[in-house]
Amino acid sequence: MPSDLGLPEPSENDPREPILDLLPVPTAIIVANAGGVVFEAVNLAFRAAGFADSDGRAALLHEIGDQLLSFLMSGDTRRRMALRLGDAVDSRHYDVTLARRPESVGIPRCMMSMVDQTPEQRTETSLRREMSTDSLTGLPNRIGFGDLVEERVVDGDRDGFAVLAVNLDRFSRVNACMGSLSGDELLISVARRLKGVLRSNDVLARTGGDEFAVLLSLRDGTEDALQAAGRLQQALVQPFQLTDFSIRVECSIGIALGEDADAEAEDMIRHAQFAVKRSKRTGQTEVYRPHLFDIVRSQFSIETRLRHALEDGQLHLAFQPICDLSTGRINSFEALARWTTPEGENISPVDFIPVAEESGLIVPLGRWAMAEAGRTLAEWDRRAGTDCGARMAVNLSAVQLQRDNVEAMFAAILAQYGLTGDRFTIELTESAFIVDPDRTLCTMLALKEMGAAIAMDDFGTGYSNLAYLQKLPIDKLKIDRSFITGMLADRDKVAIVRAILSLAQALGLRTTAEGIETQELEHTLVALGCAFGQGYFYSRPIDADAAYALLVARNA
Ligand code: C2E
Ligand code: CA
Ligand code: CA
Repeated sequence: MPSDLGLPEPSENDPREPILDLLPVPTAIIVANAGGVVFEAVNLAFRAAGFADSDGRAALLHEIGDQLLSFLMSGDTRRRMALRLGDAVDSRHYDVTLARRPESVGIPRCMMSMVDQTPEQRTETSLRREMSTDSLTGLPNRIGFGDLVEERVVDGDRDGFAVLAVNLDRFSRVNACMGSLSGDELLISVARRLKGVLRSNDVLARTGGDEFAVLLSLRDGTEDALQAAGRLQQALVQPFQLTDFSIRVECSIGIALGEDADAEAEDMIRHAQFAVKRSKRTGQTEVYRPHLFDIVRSQFSIETRLRHALEDGQLHLAFQPICDLSTGRINSFEALARWTTPEGENISPVDFIPVAEESGLIVPLGRWAMAEAGRTLAEWDRRAGTDCGARMAVNLSAVQLQRDNVEAMFAAILAQYGLTGDRFTIELTESAFIVDPDRTLCTMLALKEMGAAIAMDDFGTGYSNLAYLQKLPIDKLKIDRSFITGMLADRDKVAIVRAILSLAQALGLRTTAEGIETQELEHTLVALGCAFGQGYFYSRPIDADAAYALLVARNA
């Protein structure tokens, strides 16, 4: 209480010290001295600032009394501090400066000036809020999310949380097909559903156009995070009803755990985003594991190692049968690259093909794969004493189509192994037709001229401008695994597969369903009119000898 401190009543106009010119338009100035604590307060805008009555002064002195005293007792001549008065809802912020005045009768004195910063503070807070909020959904945006993760990291409870990156799959097509208004409407509904399956202390943020993120509180570690990922995906299963139509949205999820290493907040977000990229390729939720991802992340290391791998023969091909669904016979084998390092580590093509594409190593790698496939096919023919009866399907990267002379390479391999072009199917993805359509078309025509068949790989996942299909010399569509997996429990997927099949029929294209893992799926696909199938139900990718044995056994 002021009376306890011996504060005299403020006298309204009594600037005994010529101090005003020293100050930045203050709200209030107090000249205080303390020798057994006596204050002389000079009031300027005191009343306006709410300190005029004794309650106001009490509040002020309660906050600042100790610091005032400590300053007066110290030898300092000047001290600045921030002061907040009031409750959380209605608080005012002051910039306080204490300046020593000459002693009076041996008693130390100081001048305290207070500049009201409340309006600036409020602007800054609301600016900060605006800057960290996504205006469409009202969720925290990338900046806001970074701040929230930072808070958790600083808290130090590393085992207690995870960061999930949630990317909507193929969302850019929604905007392209339906206009951004519908896209916005959809994003809001997606946000609402995602939020609906989170617990109250989890935070959902929108970190990019079609990217969401979750700061998840964990009860029991990884399992908890995986379950939450499952719930988030489940939340999107029901189609969304927009004004004019309904649409399905799926998402890929990457997880970074707080317990992993001593990552900073930004690292954790990056790790989760890294994991989600991988998840897009593998088709399943991925947890960031520092070791695995370090290999992949360090471009340099994987690139150098891949270069050596190519030279040292660390790569080999595995072969997976593609079966005729009506007879069960093997029609062809898809050649799939495998990399086993000298340390015995198996690196998946899902990880090294993108690096090869980015670094240009895909050209020698693709040449090697094509040659190795040709060599193997010739070897099988030699064992069979005649045409072994299977074709070889080889993946050809869009990057290689752009950079390499594919037709010359193909011709050379045919000549080297004495094979005809019709023993090969070349698998291309839709991206080949986006990057350089003219060149792709030329190469395709040349390959077909030599007898090769062309298959459109991963059909349905890319840009799917169906009109172009008609114009391209394609023989076969491979329906992407993501439509086949889980199809029996998902009427939308059945509808998509049915649509692709009838489109293929109309265009006179043959179809292969990828990822058939059960007999039930096989039956359904046969019933829908699909001609070929590939998947673990028939065989996983196996080495050349095992593949030949399987061919002999199945096609006998
Ligand atoms: P892709 O061309 O779509 O190959 C099919 C992938 O699906 C293979 O993965 C195969 O192992 C997997 N798969 C087959 N049946 C099933 C199934 O029933 N269930 C599940 N869950 N998966 C199944 P893999 O071998 O990991 O290859 C991944 C991708 O790497 C390939 O996808 C292809 O895009 C690329 N790739 C592999 N080898 C080469 C290559 O020599 N050249 C190029 N350019 N790309 C390659
Ligand atoms: Ca393929
Ligand atoms: Ca495929």
